[in-house]
Amino acid sequence: MTKLHSIAHAASDDLRARVHFCPETGQIWLHEHRMLLVHAEAQALLRKELIDSLGMDRARGLLTRMGYASGLRDAELARTRAENVGDLEAFMTGPKLHTLEGIVHVTPVKLDLDRASGKFYGEFLWENSWEGQWHRHHYGIHSEPVCWTQIGYACGYTSAFMGRPVLYKEVECVGMGHDNCRIVGKPVQEWPDAAEHMRFFTPESIVDQLIELQTQVVQLRGAIAGKEKLPADLIGRSPGFAAAYDLLKHAAASQITVLLLGETGVGKELFARALHELGSRRERAFVALNCAAIPNELVESELFGVEKGAYTGALVSRPGRFERADGGSLFLDEIGELPLPTQSKLLRVLQEGEIERVGDQKTRKVNVRIIAATNDELRQRVKEGRFRSDLYYRLNAFQVNIPPLRERKEDISPLAKRFLEKYSALHGKKLRGFTDKAKRALLSYAWPGNIRELQNMIERGVILAPSGTRIEVNHLFSSLVEEQAHEFGVDLNGGLDLQQGGSAAALCDAVLNGVMTLEQIEVMLIESAVDKARGNLSAAARMLGLTRPQLAYRLKRLHEADANLSMAQGAPGPGTSHAVP
Ligand SMILES: [Zn+2]
Repeated sequence: MTKLHSIAHAASDDLRARVHFCPETGQIWLHEHRMLLVHAEAQALLRKELIDSLGMDRARGLLTRMGYASGLRDAELARTRAENVGDLEAFMTGPKLHTLEGIVHVTPVKLDLDRASGKFYGEFLWENSWEGQWHRHHYGIHSEPVCWTQIGYACGYTSAFMGRPVLYKEVECVGMGHDNCRIVGKPVQEWPDAAEHMRFFTPESIVDQLIELQTQVVQLRGAIAGKEKLPADLIGRSPGFAAAYDLLKHAAASQITVLLLGETGVGKELFARALHELGSRRERAFVALNCAAIPNELVESELFGVEKGAYTGALVSRPGRFERADGGSLFLDEIGELPLPTQSKLLRVLQEGEIERVGDQKTRKVNVRIIAATNDELRQRVKEGRFRSDLYYRLNAFQVNIPPLRERKEDISPLAKRFLEKYSALHGKKLRGFTDKAKRALLSYAWPGNIRELQNMIERGVILAPSGTRIEVNHLFSSLVEEQAHEFGVDLNGGLDLQQGGSAAALCDAVLNGVMTLEQIEVMLIESAVDKARGNLSAAARMLGLTRPQLAYRLKRLHEADANLSMAQGAPGPGTSHAVP
């Protein structure tokens, strides 16, 4: 040890003599290399920005490689000195330069090397680690060593000096809360976990990765948005959807008040947004209010705004939804829930085009397109005197009926696909689609909660399915839903449980309740015939009273419907998950 120290000291003066400041040319030289005298704090800020913008892992790689490059340059000087002095003394050039450059004070603890045989073992104490101290200052105590640039330097320097790859690790680090850092270096092969550390020495093109991700985003956007700039989830190809959408487009060209009808969860707000986007008000605000979600006593101040002091608790004046939607569209969902006095006020606003804030005498002009929606029989409410007939006729100028999901089975596949893409991206999962059983269950379920239920179920499936697999039936359907389906005699695995529901009666019930379609019954018949005939299509066709070509045609149609639910192709590529915040 004493020998080591004396060598270390002897090297210092000699090295210091190799540093040349040349103010007249604006250069500093260390031996043959131009050096920079930079502010440690500025350097630390750059390091912090790298971490904050690229993440710990990528920043660590960049900094390690930067240190490695410095170590390589300093090893050149050491190797020229090795011609005149012993290996040990020549090697100490690196640790002394690291100290002289102001990075860290290096003291050898144990050093055993032989350049001829490639043998190397080095242990050093690092005091005043520049990097460790600043890391701790910016990020607090870390669970792993943080002196990445310095470790890179030690690896680059020693590998170049020895002529073989040498890997250092910090066994103690200021960044982890130790008093000092302590490093140990050995040839790469002697570390069992070398691969884990060596990856930081391989440059990765972040630009390439960004371009790749950008391309994927553009593709996804294109796939999601379609040709018109519409809400991404507004998808359908069933006749029912097409008819509703067609009406919507006609309404969009005018300023007519539109009443959207449909069960809960059919996507009334999406239709309302689409109407707004398709019309001339698209550059202005789209404001939505669910009348059922607001207590009766607050609904007027929400709609028309409130003046300071109008009632206890009205501490400041604020505009209502009408004022916020000025020039744009106001979507009033569950309009049937509006209390009668509010209905009168709403009617007056619609007739006169001006509002009065609650507690205010002043009238304000507003230019708002009203889109109303309801899931119940408004006409019935009118009859019962719970909804004003004059308001009803005013709102019902143009009616658009949105069919429930069970009446537009063709839309289940594209919607499921869209939600799978959306929630995979959101939850950072890469999934390969749905299993056959899951696809069958999605198509045979009655969807009492419509698209919203489908969307929630797919999100549940995405969360529950392990990455890299397909979504299974039990990932989608909670036991509660399964129970309900069971009451109708439907087995979500795609078959009909005849024992449970009482044979033919259950079958009829299932069709009449919308739990299954005639088409699905046909599919079941065909499948069981093919099964019974052990795949012999001619025999299966005979059982069904069909010709073989007729059966083949039906099977082909069935396979096409299945293929529409296969997602694997359009799914995002590897690495996308990291891009999701
Ligand atoms: Zn450290």
